[in-house]
Amino acid sequence: MSEQIASNHLIDQFQRTIRYLRLSVTDRCNLRCTYCMAEDMVFLPKAKVLSLEEMALVGKTFVGLGVEKIRLTGGEPLVRKGVMQLARSLGELPGLRELVMTTNGVLLDQYATELKSVGMSRINISLDTLDSDRFKAMTRFGDIQDVMRGIKAAKAAGFARIKLNAVVLKGVNDHEVLDLTRFAVNEGLDISFIEEMPLGDIDSHARSKTSLSSQSISDQLDAEFGLDDYHFNDLAAGPSRYQAVKGTDTRVGFISPMTNNFCSTCNRVRVTTEGQLLLCLGNEDAVDLKGIIREGQKAGQSDAQIEEFLAVAIRDSMQRKPEKHEFDPNEIKIQRFMSATGG
Ligand code: SAM
Ligand code: SF4
Repeated sequence: MSEQIASNHLIDQFQRTIRYLRLSVTDRCNLRCTYCMAEDMVFLPKAKVLSLEEMALVGKTFVGLGVEKIRLTGGEPLVRKGVMQLARSLGELPGLRELVMTTNGVLLDQYATELKSVGMSRINISLDTLDSDRFKAMTRFGDIQDVMRGIKAAKAAGFARIKLNAVVLKGVNDHEVLDLTRFAVNEGLDISFIEEMPLGDIDSHARSKTSLSSQSISDQLDAEFGLDDYHFNDLAAGPSRYQAVKGTDTRVGFISPMTNNFCSTCNRVRVTTEGQLLLCLGNEDAVDLKGIIREGQKAGQSDAQIEEFLAVAIRDSMQRKPEKHEFDPNEIKIQRFMSATGG
């Protein structure tokens, strides 16, 4: 790599290179998962939310700074009107290797083919249970058949390596981890199990009572199926541990922010729906990118000029990325919900 390219990359004070941006395109959602949202969520007014054009500019700036992978998330990204237009413009950026999305799958039946055609390379679909009553209870009103149709549509559209995401709560869905893994194997999917994080003050349960370690899940899977270690040959892969179900093509990921912190290999930052650059999921510190954009627009700056100001602010922020997070399930230190953060 030439010195000039290397110096343009985002390298933080702990020598971690940032290659991955998670962009929350909306805080709104067509479900209300109990671990993610309160029942009576108040959503952001339109004026506070970045426009799609502003999001595209943020994405372009990050790619200019060496980011190779962008994930569109939320809230539910597919409820944002015009998200395809954003995906298309990001998908065309030279230098972006992967454009991916995390979705609850409810609207995938409608959008999977179009997502593929605008350049989305992979999709993660959240599914915490295979039981329709439990699905309804965990999402407060969802219909699991919508997600099943979404998975089918994503496969039919030609997406490879579709990954299921399951947040596992003790006493709620932890007895389903073997069935969920079997389902992933039978459907030719990957699956990640996620430890619940204390983001936002929810009213449905005490997080300290439902927390469960990834290790206990991994032990169960290993005893039942046998797990082999799996190493991604991919610099954008980041801080999760992966294994493969023996004799199958299915990879199992363990995202363990509570029990096993992989912060030393963190390669990502997030931009919230409100255009705040979050340097760490477990920290309130943020850089106001929306402020830079809106000030620039008021002053009549061109997009290219605004991009330069954004790039300076993003580069400077690297000195503020903390070494690690410290989550405590007994204490809600982070008031912002996962849906506004960009999970
Ligand atoms: N709506 C989309 C979905 O559900 O896939 C994308 C946004 S959602 C916030 C992204 C991921 O974060 C989902 O897999 C969800 O299960 C997970 N999530 C939400 N709240 C969480 C929490 N408090 N702790 C851990 N994971 C959480
Ligand atoms: Fe919506 Fe995703 Fe949060 Fe569930 S986890 S409420 S689907 S944003």
